[in-house]
Amino acid sequence: MIRMLPLLLAAAACARPSLTGQLARATWIDLSYPFDSTTIYWPTAKPFALEVVSARRTPAGYYYAANNFAAAEHGGTHLDAPVHFAEGRHTTDQIPLTQLAGPAFVIDVRRQAEADRDYRITPADLEAWERAGTRIPEGAIVLFRTGWGNRWPDRARYLGTARTGPAAVPELHFPGIHPDAARWLVERKVHAVGIDTPSIDYGQSTTFDTHETLFAADIPAFENVAHLSAVPATGAFVIALPMLIRGGSGGPLRIVAVLPEGAAPE
Ligand SMILES: [Zn+2]
Repeated sequence: MIRMLPLLLAAAACARPSLTGQLARATWIDLSYPFDSTTIYWPTAKPFALEVVSARRTPAGYYYAANNFAAAEHGGTHLDAPVHFAEGRHTTDQIPLTQLAGPAFVIDVRRQAEADRDYRITPADLEAWERAGTRIPEGAIVLFRTGWGNRWPDRARYLGTARTGPAAVPELHFPGIHPDAARWLVERKVHAVGIDTPSIDYGQSTTFDTHETLFAADIPAFENVAHLSAVPATGAFVIALPMLIRGGSGGPLRIVAVLPEGAAPE
């Protein structure tokens, strides 16, 4: 009996693997683009700038590297805090951590977006996805895969225009989320929404209704999400941690997908 105890313990450990064990064996996928001089920003936004302060051996004998950086909150892979389009709603630092992490549900709309670069994702797209077998639960992080990630970092193909300044804004063309789908997501009480394009509203939007709808419900958004091809439709856990800017309307975002052992992209 005593000799069996280690076996029994081992069996129990297999039946209920610890969270730390699962995390240690999981695959971690980076869903952020790096910030550099090629990072895509809105045509009217200040792009990322890195200023080298030091990159050399000092007279005292030690090597010292340090930089200054500056950028708009909204560019590259970034968070939109609800206050971005909803006065009085959460700023970047007010979003609960629990809302920035959760089970990921990846909705593939590549076919629709390929046929129409101004495509807006509809409730019908979400319902068709659910009919394939999984209901999107309360607390979900819903990520939309339009295929636009393949165009990064080609500004002309990704944004619809390579120009900058206010005159370039009407030239923006990329897919987004229809406000009806935004209302659907609000009713489902999802925790956050992400997309692999520059904005949750499509490029031709002038009123940003999807931003208004989600943000009024304190549902934040992740934009320019990278590498969604590596995330399965279900089974991944997303952790999306923005720079903690007090009073911010958004900010640079490091977002990762954690794939438990056995979960694999299509
Ligand atoms: Zn934004």
